[in-house]
Amino acid sequence: MASKAENACSYREAWRLNWRTWRICMRRRPGYFVSAALSAAGQALAPYVTIWLSARVIAELAGGRDPGQLAFWAALTVGLTAVMALANGLLKRWAKYEENALTVQKHKLLMDKMAALDYADCDRQEVQDLYSQIKQNDNWSGYGIHRAVQCYIEFCQAAVQVLAGVGFTLTLFFTNVPAHSPLAVLNSPLCMAGVLAAMVMTVLLSSACGSRADLLLSQQAATMREGNRYFSFFGFMAIELPRAADLRIYRQQENVCRRYMREHGFTPRSPIARLSRGRMGLLQGLSQALSALLTGVVYLYVCLKAWAGAFDVGAVTQYVGAATQLFGGISLALQTLSYIRANGVFLRLTFELLDLPNPMYQGSLTTEKRSDRQYQVEFRDVSFRYPGSDAWALRHVNVAFRVGSRLAVVGPNGSGKTTFIKLLCRLYDPTEGTILLNGIDIRKYRYDDYIALFSVVFQDFQLPSLPLGENVAGATDYDREKAARCLADAGLTLPSDKLPQGLDTWLYKDMEEGVNLSGGEAQKVAIARALYKDAPFLILDEPTAALDPIAEAEIYEKFDAIAGDHTAVYISHRLSSCKFCDTIAVFDQGAIVQTGSHADLVADATGLYHRLWQAQAQYYTKPAE
Ligand code: ADP
Repeated sequence: MASKAENACSYREAWRLNWRTWRICMRRRPGYFVSAALSAAGQALAPYVTIWLSARVIAELAGGRDPGQLAFWAALTVGLTAVMALANGLLKRWAKYEENALTVQKHKLLMDKMAALDYADCDRQEVQDLYSQIKQNDNWSGYGIHRAVQCYIEFCQAAVQVLAGVGFTLTLFFTNVPAHSPLAVLNSPLCMAGVLAAMVMTVLLSSACGSRADLLLSQQAATMREGNRYFSFFGFMAIELPRAADLRIYRQQENVCRRYMREHGFTPRSPIARLSRGRMGLLQGLSQALSALLTGVVYLYVCLKAWAGAFDVGAVTQYVGAATQLFGGISLALQTLSYIRANGVFLRLTFELLDLPNPMYQGSLTTEKRSDRQYQVEFRDVSFRYPGSDAWALRHVNVAFRVGSRLAVVGPNGSGKTTFIKLLCRLYDPTEGTILLNGIDIRKYRYDDYIALFSVVFQDFQLPSLPLGENVAGATDYDREKAARCLADAGLTLPSDKLPQGLDTWLYKDMEEGVNLSGGEAQKVAIARALYKDAPFLILDEPTAALDPIAEAEIYEKFDAIAGDHTAVYISHRLSSCKFCDTIAVFDQGAIVQTGSHADLVADATGLYHRLWQAQAQYYTKPAE
């Protein structure tokens, strides 16, 4: 449950946040603001045109009954209504198109921010939660940027509706009934002020009830967000192919749909349903009832004046229609004000994300693009704790590796191998100690320059659903020969039965009718992608974990040649594959406990490497029983 302070936002703050949103959206899609204002004005004005012209027709019918005049007013009514409908239709389409384009921009705004965040922040639970809250708020009721944009349209519409309404109804109050009429009291300023006050009071009361109901709804945000989260996860489990097998084997069907429906859904017993049947429903009903009462008051006042002889029957239609529109406009303006305030808390979350700083220090040195790839890296007493964690993932790590060398990183699960790679690529900065590139702290280099030095195949790499060649090159326009060569080096020859269109074969089926790759095939594509980037450092985190023994042997046989003058760093569980590396660093509980060549380390019978080697070797050396 959100606290009261989280749910509260002053008008001042809400205005500031909404205004900021409008400015951002205006910069990204100015056409939306023009089209929405024109469309809202057209929508607001159209009823007045019809009201005024119908009043002329009715007045003629009730008065002169001149066929020529009648035909003129009728033709003008039909003609102008048709022209207005056409213009409004066009404006509405234009505004709709711009709104869709703005929706894309809204999404892009958040995606750009998420992509620009320091990696360490992406990995933070609070940031993920913040993004999820923003998304769920938008999903369940459009709160956030979408609502701010809606408020802009509603304001435009309300402004035109009120201005036109005032123009059309002003004479209602100043047209006197004849002095001899028994209802001459209607002319008195006191009576006029009383009627006006009754109307304004009713509209204010109606709006207050509506706003209170909206506020109650917005205060349900935490519950609704949670419901939506469950709905998004459990509600669609059955259509996710990667889950389909587990779903059947482990009988997870019970969780599909039913779980969110039972525990968190929008069921008849949910808080939102109870509120709808109770206070919120009552307030909404009351708001509607007061609007109906207001129409009654308007009718009564206008009809009494007409009956007493202040104006003709045609004017009755005009005044009733125009006054209803006017008060509708006032009500819309008040409702928009309340939305703006209610939206403040949701925009606050949006800007909390958009304003997240990038605290990682960005240096200005360029990494010289050395043709000799003479790069040297040194970890100097590096220790690291993940953000929000008390445990050391790395402790006092000291290691240096030579250019063009092969470094193997081995050790039990959780010993810090992947963390070591992430620090090397500057996805995180060390908590203590320094990493040096050619003797200079890596923080002093330009970040983009530094990260360009690494080709990494992470354990949990992802291949997007794109044609194979684009996947390898990371671009739409690429060197096809080089891409095919990298794939061949990684062990995939083209075209094959599996990849009939060669480099143009789509991977996976999310976009086009593509091919599904096995874990081993996907890993080969990921390795080819790393080779295509041709960066000085080639890092493979468990590069062959998903490969069969024959493919693994092939990769390792060739790897020395493939890696060429790159500095290669491998994380591997299979110690036999580390034999060819110049240096092996053995990690245990976040520290490097041994370094040396395979021969040296195997010879040290007291060391961890020896134990790991023995544990693996026994499976290969024991005679078959
Ligand atoms: P290895 O690659 O050797 O299996 P890792 O480097 O992945 O080990 O993990 C080292 C330690 O850091 C482990 O205790 C792991 O639980 C912890 N760890 C890894 N990633 C995170 C993270 N994102 N947040 C917090 N702790 C993490």
